[in-house]
Amino acid sequence: MVERLFADLDATLTPAERASFQVAALRERDGRLSVETYAPVPAAQALIKAAVKASTQICQNCGAPGKRRTFSGWAATLCPPCRQRLGAMRIGGGD
Ligand SMILES: [Zn+2]
Repeated sequence: MVERLFADLDATLTPAERASFQVAALRERDGRLSVETYAPVPAAQALIKAAVKASTQICQNCGAPGKRRTFSGWAATLCPPCRQRLGAMRIGGGD
């Protein structure tokens, strides 16, 4: 997903925009992509916004369509099989 974002950015931005576009921070937080840039580049903002939105609809584990769910204290975007596997892992490891 991040790779696709940068491929899109590369294809969309003009050389000048690309020069001023610098990612300050890129991380995944609570099952959602978070991108911070040093200087706002309007052409890039739209792509980033779309990628962030997509990141809440794609399983962060395998890339299948998923849903963002909040668990106890944290959130993750997972497809049903991954959610089940993760849930079984968390529950199973406790006892
Ligand atoms: Zn998955």
